[in-house]
Amino acid sequence: MAEYILETVSVEPAQYKVHNLNCGALPATEGTRYLGSYGNQKAAIDKAVNLLNGVEPCPDCLSS
Ligand SMILES: [Zn+2]
Repeated sequence: MAEYILETVSVEPAQYKVHNLNCGALPATEGTRYLGSYGNQKAAIDKAVNLLNGVEPCPDCLSS
């Protein structure tokens, strides 16, 4: 299982990025929230997409 973080990139328009917990591009805690632990990145992204609009995977740590 890997842990994933949701970064709020922009509030208006809503834009979020899913990161792996170990991502080097992940900002400090501000603007991020813990998404959860998932068996693979697709599950994590799917979870975020179900919660929010404007979700995309981080190009640095997740490949779509
Ligand atoms: Zn990342």
